[in-house]
Amino acid sequence: MSQLGAIVTHRNGAHALPRSSKNKKTIQTGFEAPETHMRRYSAFAIAREAARYHSGWERAWASPQPKKKYDVIIVGAGGHGLATAYYLGKNFGITNVAVLEKGWLGGGNTGRNTTIIRSNYLQDASAAIYEKARSLYETMSQDLNYNVMFSPRGLIMLAQTEHEVRGYQRTAHANALQGVATEFITPQKVKDLVPIINISGPRYPVLGGLWQQRGGTARHDAVAWGYARACSDMGMDIIQQCEVTGVRRDGGKVVGVDTSRGAIDCDKLGIVVAGHSGVLADMAGFRLPLESLALQALVSEPIKPCIDVVVMANTVHGYMSQSDKGELVIGGGTDGFNNYTQRGSFHHIEETVRALVETFPMISRLKMLRQWGGIVDMTGDRSPILSKTPVEGIFVNCGWGTGGFKAIPGSGWAMAELMAKGHSPLAEEFGLNRFKEGRFIDESVAAGVAH
Ligand SMILES: Cc1cc2nc3c(=O)[nH]c(=O)nc-3n(C[C@H](O)[C@H](O)[C@H](O)COP(=O)(O)OP(=O)(O)OC[C@H]3O[C@@H](n4cnc5c(N)ncnc54)[C@H](O)[C@@H]3O)c2cc1C
Repeated sequence: MSQLGAIVTHRNGAHALPRSSKNKKTIQTGFEAPETHMRRYSAFAIAREAARYHSGWERAWASPQPKKKYDVIIVGAGGHGLATAYYLGKNFGITNVAVLEKGWLGGGNTGRNTTIIRSNYLQDASAAIYEKARSLYETMSQDLNYNVMFSPRGLIMLAQTEHEVRGYQRTAHANALQGVATEFITPQKVKDLVPIINISGPRYPVLGGLWQQRGGTARHDAVAWGYARACSDMGMDIIQQCEVTGVRRDGGKVVGVDTSRGAIDCDKLGIVVAGHSGVLADMAGFRLPLESLALQALVSEPIKPCIDVVVMANTVHGYMSQSDKGELVIGGGTDGFNNYTQRGSFHHIEETVRALVETFPMISRLKMLRQWGGIVDMTGDRSPILSKTPVEGIFVNCGWGTGGFKAIPGSGWAMAELMAKGHSPLAEEFGLNRFKEGRFIDESVAAGVAH
């Protein structure tokens, strides 16, 4: 730590500015002490609280009233919005930040996805941001002092047609050049890794697979909660039940937002609302090249451990992993029409389960427990948008479609840099102008079906 009242140095070496004065303690020397950080979670803390009937746990994040003005407002307390706020504070010392959420934090797609993490994309720009994200997941629990249950259990994308074999071999070569560790494996290796798989199915036998050993899963809510706690700890305001209903401009520049809890001013605005990005852009007076669709998933009843890697079968269109509770977590496809309905539908259950039963015959006797849906934001090239916009001071982070959970830390890192400095190497290729210039980042193989 440097001087009293100046910069706080976290355990991992990152710096954050002190919290607002309401959170500081004044000590007798007359200097202001640095902020009082939340108590760290640790084995010792668990033992301490066990001894006193868990009466001493602090609230993980504050629930403040909105202030009149912030330097930065982020709309959307999903993973991407919270990660953006976190890296604004951690990497750039910008902490006069509010994250506005119309529902509850993590209640959008972040809390509804099937938690797959991988970085085996084809194009260089994608591999860079997804691999940055994957590598940040490796130490996220330590960085946030919050157990996000990152489980790099390994992930296979099955090749079940000759076309997929060629496609995934090409991706493995591209990944080798990009420094992303993947390999194309034989059907026998697939069987060794996943004993319950049927590799000689009648329609689509398994011909190989793209294997990423450090791909896997993490607990989705915990990612949102961990970032929220760290942001709150830096003095940022996370304001739930606060819907943005309008964007206020002075000529070509943003000056604030109207919300269900009153008007709030800001110098910069980050729109990070996934399937509602078009709605917010409309409020700000511009359009985005996005479509919104419902994407669905379901889980089975819990069973004993039977599959310890993530398997994606993109030809038959289904993918599966097993949660720590024992449920099989199963992902389906998007609706065939644009909509804002945040729910599942019956025909998808049937299609998805039918597809998977061919590859995993043993699941035919399982009961399915729950299904749900989220509203995903799809671009034409299936790559995200991290960009300045026609309105000065407004930035957008969207278009992650069916596969943005894995990108949360990398996306937040790049978006924070873009908002703080006006440019970010990781975000460079993902600007809105690519749609004008026809400079698409085609990830339809890596992200069109797969999540
Ligand atoms: C069923 C399903 C399975 C998926 N599986 C995977 C997977 O396995 N792996 C993977 O990498 N990705 C997956 N995804 C995609 C991933 O979930 C998303 O890309 C990612 O969570 C998007 O995060 P976000 O923060 O951008 O959006 P969200 O988490 O949706 O957050 C946006 C927030 O903005 C809020 N908001 C909207 N409008 C307003 C407003 N006017 N005012 C205030 N707040 C507003 C919403 O309430 C919401 O909380 C899946 C998605 C779904 C639906």
